[in-house]
Amino acid sequence: MADFCDIGAERTEQMLSDALEARRLRAARPAIDHHFCLDCDAPIPLKRREALPGVETCVDCQGLRERRK
Ligand SMILES: [Zn+2]
Repeated sequence: MADFCDIGAERTEQMLSDALEARRLRAARPAIDHHFCLDCDAPIPLKRREALPGVETCVDCQGLRERRK
């Protein structure tokens, strides 16, 4: 019976990690998400994209854009 319980726990854990992975992938891909800066093609860090959903530029270009205004 111990084996049966172990298999059950393992399956539950697998299902949980699958669900978390699916959620992580969805969170990583909002409708509008630029992985690269529109101005200089530099990769935009995940933290910046999470903080500013739909952000289009890297920090440097954002600064340039704001100075140009
Ligand atoms: Zn840039």
